[in-house]
Amino acid sequence: MDCIFCKIIRKEIPAKIVYEDNNALAFLDIRPLNPGHTLVIPKQHYRWVWDVQNIGAYYEAVQKVANAIKKAFKTNYVVSLVFGEEVQHAHVWLIPRLENDGHGNSINTMNIKKISEEEMTTAQEKIKHSF
Ligand SMILES: [Zn+2]
Repeated sequence: MDCIFCKIIRKEIPAKIVYEDNNALAFLDIRPLNPGHTLVIPKQHYRWVWDVQNIGAYYEAVQKVANAIKKAFKTNYVVSLVFGEEVQHAHVWLIPRLENDGHGNSINTMNIKKISEEEMTTAQEKIKHSF
């Protein structure tokens, strides 16, 4: 299927993967709202999260990744947004909120951070080692 997320699953295009199991794949968003901003996607292509057949297993993966992000960034505040609009493959955003992160009371989806390749790799490693 000609879908960017399916290509990431098939490892045809690179992504900073932080978690993978039989049902789900998690990787860093290339347009992060904060360091550690992660997308969790089902391995099978569904348009919407609510279409995912094994949604329980998928959400267990979302929970694991959220807990790893909490540990990695030493925060209890991980925002979750359910999308399926920009890329038409179901995905959940997990974004750690940090002190003075420039978002104010609620996350501002226009506030995309400039994060260097090096910092992205550091965030990836931190999350990968927090499971
Ligand atoms: Zn897809």
